[in-house]
Amino acid sequence: MKNRESRANRPNVANLTVHSTQTTSVAVYGGLNEIGGNKIVLKAADGRAIFLDFGFEFRYFNDYFDEFLPIRKTQVLFDGFQMGFLPLPDHLISGIYRPDLWAFNEQQIHEIFPYMKNDSLKITHVLISHCHGDHIGSIRYLNPQISLVCGKISKSILKFLETYSKSGTMFSDILRYGVRFQIDEKGGRMNKKSKNFQIIWRKIYDLPAYYQGDLEETCSFEVQFFPVDHSLPGAGAYFLEDKITKKRIVYTGDLRFHGRRRDLTEKFISAAQNFHPDLLITEGTRLGRIEAANPPNQDNFTQDIIDNKEFNKFATENDVCKELARIIRLAREENREGDSPKLILFTCAGRDTNRLESFFLACKSQNRSLVLLPKSYLFLKLMVQLGQTEISEKEFEEIRVFLPKKGWGVYEAKDYSRSPDCKAIYNDSHQIRAQEIHQNPSKFCLQLSFYNLTDLLDIRPPAGSHWIRSESEPFTDEAEIKMDKLLNWLDIFQITPSTIHNAHCSGHLSPEDLEKMIQTINPKKILVIHSEHPEILSKLSLPDKIEIITPSKGKEMVI
Ligand SMILES: [Zn+2]
Repeated sequence: MKNRESRANRPNVANLTVHSTQTTSVAVYGGLNEIGGNKIVLKAADGRAIFLDFGFEFRYFNDYFDEFLPIRKTQVLFDGFQMGFLPLPDHLISGIYRPDLWAFNEQQIHEIFPYMKNDSLKITHVLISHCHGDHIGSIRYLNPQISLVCGKISKSILKFLETYSKSGTMFSDILRYGVRFQIDEKGGRMNKKSKNFQIIWRKIYDLPAYYQGDLEETCSFEVQFFPVDHSLPGAGAYFLEDKITKKRIVYTGDLRFHGRRRDLTEKFISAAQNFHPDLLITEGTRLGRIEAANPPNQDNFTQDIIDNKEFNKFATENDVCKELARIIRLAREENREGDSPKLILFTCAGRDTNRLESFFLACKSQNRSLVLLPKSYLFLKLMVQLGQTEISEKEFEEIRVFLPKKGWGVYEAKDYSRSPDCKAIYNDSHQIRAQEIHQNPSKFCLQLSFYNLTDLLDIRPPAGSHWIRSESEPFTDEAEIKMDKLLNWLDIFQITPSTIHNAHCSGHLSPEDLEKMIQTINPKKILVIHSEHPEILSKLSLPDKIEIITPSKGKEMVI
C-alpha cells in the first residue's frame, strides 16, 4: 500500500476553497504526493479558470479495483466523490462534470454531500500536456462545455486511442461520448445502436508546436505551447499569462533530457528562462526514488524485480539502443558457435516510440526482423507518418506485425471482429503468424506483453531463448504479481535468468537534470507535482530566493 498519508488530503465538504478575484491562483486536485493523476487549476483574476491535465490516479485502481471489480460506470461520480478519485465540484471547479452523469447521480450524492451542485462552471479549458492515462484518464467525465486543448500530435494520438481502445477504458469518451441514460419514446433504455442516440462531441483546439497567442475569448490566459522530450510523442509544456495580472506560469507536463529529442527540452528551458515565470509547476517523478545498483545484479534479477527496485541502469535512450544491439549480437554469436537458434522476446511500453525505434535500429544492425504486436505496429506507423520518429516510411516496411490467434483460433477474418487492431492488420502484407516464427526463431525479435503470453504456446520459443525487459519496474502489488506470472511463463520455455536481460531508461528527468532545469528557469515560486517525494526538492541546490509552495489538495493559493 502506498501513499496512505496523502489520502488524508481528500477533498470533502468541510474544506471548501474560497473563491477570490483580482488575483491569479493555483489549486491542485490530483498529482500531489503521488505519481500521476495531475489535475491542476489555474484561476485568472477575472474568476475564470483552466485545468492543466485531468488525469486518472492509478493508485485508486490498484488499491481498490480489479479486472472483475471495475469502477461502476453509471455511479462514477457518486463513487468517485466518496473514494476521492474525483474531486467534488466545489467553488473553483463547480459545474465540471457531465450533465448526464450528474443528473443520474445527484440524488445519491446529496445523501452524503447535501449542498453540492454542478453548476456555475468557471473552468473554460483543459490543457492536455500529453496522452498518458495519468494525464488524460478522467477527462471522459468532464462537462463538454470545457474545451480540450492539446498539441497537434496529441490530437492524432487521441483519435488513435479512440479507435483502438476498448469502450469504457480511460481513453474512451474523450473526443466524443454517447449520452448515458437516454430513454426512447416508448420508455425503453437506449444504447448506441438505438435510433436518434445522442452523441456529444467535445470542442478541441490542436496547437501547432510553438503556438503563442489567445485560445479564444473565454480563456483568460495567453498560451504558448512547447514540445518536449518524453516517452510518448506529442508531449508538451505550457506557458501561461493571466491577461489581467500578467502573472506568468510554466507547466512542464512530463519531460526529460535523455531521449532522442533532447533538443526540444533544451529549447523549452531556454524559452522558459526568458519567460521569467512567477510560478513553475514541474514534475518530480524521480525525486527520492531508490534506484537499483548499477549494474543490476543478474544473479538476483528476479528477486530485484519483485523487490520493486528501479533499473535506470542506462542514462540515455542511445545507451539502451546500444545494449539492445549487444544482446541481439550475443544471441547471434551463440548461434554461430553451434547452439540451436534462439528467439529474442521483449517487453516494452507499446507507445514508447523512442524505445520501439531503439529495437528497430538494434535489430537492423544485427539482421533480425522486428515483429511488433498489432497495436504497437499501428501506433508506430502513425508516428512514422507524423514524422515523430527517425524511422522512414521505407524502413518501416521492414517491420513485421504479429497476428495472434483469436476467436476460433483458425485465422479467419471473422475471428477478429471484436479486435479492431487485429482487424486493421489482417490483410497487411507484413503480417506474420506463430508458425513462421517457430520455424525460424533466429530471424526474429518479437514483442511480448502480459496479455499475449498464451501466444507463447503457438510460438514455442526454443529453450534458452532470450527475453529483454525494457520497461519501468512494477510499481504495485498487482504489477508484481503479473511480473511473477510472466516469469513463470518464460520458465516453461526454459527462459531463465541467464538469458533474461534488462535495458531501460526513464521517461522522466533525473533529479540532477531537474535541479539544473530549475536553476536555469529561476522562477519566483515552484510547485512540484507528479512525485511521491516532493519534499526532496528542498535538498536540491536551488537559489535561496525561490519559494517552494506546498499546497494541500484542493486549496487555492495566490501566485
Ligand atoms: Zn507521461
